Amino acid sequence: MSHRFETEDILEVDVPVEIGAGAIRILAPNPSVYTGKGTNTYLLVDSEATCVIDPGPDDDSHIRRIIATAPSKITSILVTHTHIDHWPGSDKLKELTGATTYGFIGKDGFIPDVNLSGGQSINIGTRSVKVLHTPGHASNHLCFLLEDLRILFTGDHLMNGATVIIPPPDGDMKAYLESLDDLLSERFEISLIAPGHGHLISDPKLEIKRVIEHRLAREAKVISALSPDIPKSIDEIISNVYSDVSQSLYPLATTSLFAHLRKLFDELKVIGITDTGLLTKEDLNAKWKLI
Ligand SMILES: [Zn+2]
Repeated sequence: MSHRFETEDILEVDVPVEIGAGAIRILAPNPSVYTGKGTNTYLLVDSEATCVIDPGPDDDSHIRRIIATAPSKITSILVTHTHIDHWPGSDKLKELTGATTYGFIGKDGFIPDVNLSGGQSINIGTRSVKVLHTPGHASNHLCFLLEDLRILFTGDHLMNGATVIIPPPDGDMKAYLESLDDLLSERFEISLIAPGHGHLISDPKLEIKRVIEHRLAREAKVISALSPDIPKSIDEIISNVYSDVSQSLYPLATTSLFAHLRKLFDELKVIGITDTGLLTKEDLNAKWKLI
């Protein structure tokens, strides 16, 4: 198979793009409201070995394209997290290549050969990938830093063109913001973000700061929508906090509001009240008020 490597950041199925020396992106054919144009699969290439990050859905044409594009033997498959658009292709890819699969503790049907917890390094021939545990979007979310090029593969931790969904209880806004903060630390020099969906992000630290500020601004709106005296329902808070978004997005906004309320609940800034008393953490449809 012949490949076409573009210098522009063209995001199309059938157009593998070399995003850096020996780092190739292949778009999976699974577009949707949740995945944008589809899931980005990445190949990290050494003369002796190729590593695949997020093989994406179990789609024959995509798996064949990954194998045909890899210039050397695929020996490792890394999975950022176990949502259905990121890992199911790993079974078929492993079967066809004999590669070893890596991920955080298995979940949602994905059982990696090697469990990662963050802090490890994985060698791909002479290259090295650092593993970072970045809970928030999902509790088992990992990012991968290609050390020679300083490219950070972010899965759904950061994506281009859409706000990341934080779905409680597995999604955790407090953990999400802490994971983002961690990426801003001096320990991580990042030249480029290669997200699980959408185009490359060329100014990583600026984008991370923007995302943190956006979330904190929304949190401030949640707090100002609440009063200490009058508990409010989720619907009342939504129409106040998300007055700037279309009502068709309210279901998604509700998920996000739950995530904010759970963070504020954990930080003892708000409480939830049910008919039978104070809420449990799972009982998110309570009425809410400031402490
Ligand atoms: Zn996801």
